[in-house]
Amino acid sequence: MRPAGRFVGEVLTELSHRVDVGTNLLELDQIAHEMIRDRGATSCYIDYHPSFGASPFGKVLCTSVNDAVLHGLPHDYTLVDGDVLSVDFACAVDGWVADSAITVIVGTPRPEDEALIKVTQDALQAGIEAAQPGNKLGDISFAIALVATKAGLKINTDFGGHGVGRTMHGDPHVPNNGRRGRGLPLRPGLVIAIEPWFAHGTDKIYTDPDGWTLRSRDGSRGAHSEHTIAVTEDGPLVLTERR
Ligand code: MG
Repeated sequence: MRPAGRFVGEVLTELSHRVDVGTNLLELDQIAHEMIRDRGATSCYIDYHPSFGASPFGKVLCTSVNDAVLHGLPHDYTLVDGDVLSVDFACAVDGWVADSAITVIVGTPRPEDEALIKVTQDALQAGIEAAQPGNKLGDISFAIALVATKAGLKINTDFGGHGVGRTMHGDPHVPNNGRRGRGLPLRPGLVIAIEPWFAHGTDKIYTDPDGWTLRSRDGSRGAHSEHTIAVTEDGPLVLTERR
């Protein structure tokens, strides 16, 4: 699964360099599309059509801007100064999937947005550090939640991390809040995506009329940090590391 993880990291690094005032979300999707084609990889998103979706997703990235917190369907929108953009990307290389997400600020940052992004990164790091063989799944969830609650954030447990393998979403669900010492034992070989996401003011969300994009109910901005990691005998290994 290392080649898939490395490629997903490369795509997110490239996209983060392309994000600027004046960049259109559809341009970012196009760049990722071309990178997928050149690598001979397979998008996990473009044909994704779960029961709740009105139609196949049709794009290769999720681009969630400001009050869009997850699953943002790329549309004809040009980024402006101060926007907060989360990019979530998953694809398969040689039949194995990796999944990762970053949040970046466009142009001039608002301090509170920088702080929110830092909390999601710290929560992700805490979750990764808890992914030790012999620990339980609940240790990861607990570690994430501890960082978030210390920062005064509310936690939505409907959407969180998940098992990753031949497909993008497998068991187990990895919620962003849970009980220490409970749940599935973590054994070497388990590969999961850990993905804390939070909004400034609420854990409540609603679905945009586009049928995909999830927005915070109070309009506050969100941030999202995700890595695919493997539990190994030597501890957690981040497969989607960016260089
Ligand atoms: Mg993802």
